Amino acid sequence: MATISDKLPWYHSIRWRLALSYIGLSIVPLLIFNFSIMGFITDYFVNNRINVIQPRAAIMSDIVSGFTFTSLQQEASIRRLRDRVRIRSSDWGVRIIVVDDNARVLDDSNRDALDSLVGQTLLQSSVLEALNGRNSTVLHRGDESLLYVTMSARDEISGRVGAVMLVSNIDDIFDSLSEFRARLYLYSLAVGLLVFVLVFVMSHRIITPLRQIVRVVQRMSAGQLNLRIPITSRDEYSILSRTFNNMTEELEQVERTREEFVSNVSHELKTPLTAIKVLSESILSQESVPEEVSREFMQDISSEVDRMVHITNDLLALVKVNQREQSLNIAPTDINKLVEDILKRLSPLAEQKKVILLYEEVRPVQIDADEIKLALAISNIVENGIKYTPRGGTVKVVVDSDHQSAFITIQDTGPGIPEEEQDKIFNRFYRIDKTRDRDTGGTGLGLAISRSTVLMHNGSIKINSKPDEGCVFVLRIPIRMS
Ligand code: ADP
Repeated sequence: MATISDKLPWYHSIRWRLALSYIGLSIVPLLIFNFSIMGFITDYFVNNRINVIQPRAAIMSDIVSGFTFTSLQQEASIRRLRDRVRIRSSDWGVRIIVVDDNARVLDDSNRDALDSLVGQTLLQSSVLEALNGRNSTVLHRGDESLLYVTMSARDEISGRVGAVMLVSNIDDIFDSLSEFRARLYLYSLAVGLLVFVLVFVMSHRIITPLRQIVRVVQRMSAGQLNLRIPITSRDEYSILSRTFNNMTEELEQVERTREEFVSNVSHELKTPLTAIKVLSESILSQESVPEEVSREFMQDISSEVDRMVHITNDLLALVKVNQREQSLNIAPTDINKLVEDILKRLSPLAEQKKVILLYEEVRPVQIDADEIKLALAISNIVENGIKYTPRGGTVKVVVDSDHQSAFITIQDTGPGIPEEEQDKIFNRFYRIDKTRDRDTGGTGLGLAISRSTVLMHNGSIKINSKPDEGCVFVLRIPIRMS
């Protein structure tokens, strides 16, 4: 028998699969959560900063409107503006730029620094939009994270429209958030690892009973059929173990039946073979055997051979009936005619035994059946009736039906069958009285063949009998097979 290896690559083991699936199940939602919470917090802080800068930009644009652009070109105009709106460039690094209607920078809070834009033309889209009267707030993320709040400002004396731009460096927000983000991802990783370890440890409880089952099954498949899986839980494993144990019992039963069958067959064939051996040896052992003695012996040998042929024929018939894959040859069958033919064939036997054979047709019955097999099944029972009924007795066959089934009743006035034997007589080679039955030429296979055939037709056989009161066999066959 081929042995099946229980070594699996780790990635096929249930334990690893469980642990990895749980990591996936816990980390993915965590990552989605982290991602959305980071977006939410970033928006919150950036909006907070916008809410501080925007009103100040609005006030500045109002104030600028009170100056002429020419006066704004004068030094320290920005400082004056800043004082008015109480904003310092050190506050969040805000840079203030004022441009005229030609986008030329009139003043810049970085006026004294190297990157001062004073006098330059600032062709930024937000500036150009402000010159067209549209305020804007733009977040620019590059090496630095900058917030541009740009608003238009009108020189009320000349009517020229310029702009005030507040540029706030918001790196501080992103710096502190990136620290927060790193911590969040670190915690998620820790959660994932913890889940993995927990699931790996806990899956031990799931896997151990399974391994136990596998071990027992392996020993059983190596031939130790008497083993059983211990049932230690009440979960699905217990169902599996119980089912498997039941299946093993069935297998054992099949094995026992097979052995019994082989021993029965051998035993049945051994008796005639021994008789043949004894008869032939006794002829051989004598020098000159009188003609009539040797004839008598040869006749005995011939009848023993007949018996063996009879047993072999019945065995073949039984094997055929039991071959499930050999399908039934179903066709519409006239049961009345079938029974009449059987009785016609058996009437010489009945005459010889001085048994009266009666037939009663209650109604014509037509069913779906395998005619040849069903004829053999009915014939076996009628023949038994004739065989076991003493001289002067009666065997009566009645054919009847209801709207679902056909009923074939075979009733005799023989010795009957004791109640405790009624189940056993359908077993192969079972005979109530071996010596008496041997005289009648029975093999003990007839009823086994009949029952298998009737079961294959989805029908049933019932016996009604008491000792010395004869017996009644009722065969029920469904009218339609499907
Ligand atoms: P056999 O070939 O020996 O008749 P069966 O399987 O047909 O084998 O029957 C099994 C046993 O049942 C018979 O040996 C007999 O003892 C008993 N039996 C069957 N039919 C009858 C009957 N009509 N009356 C009494 N005993 C019967």
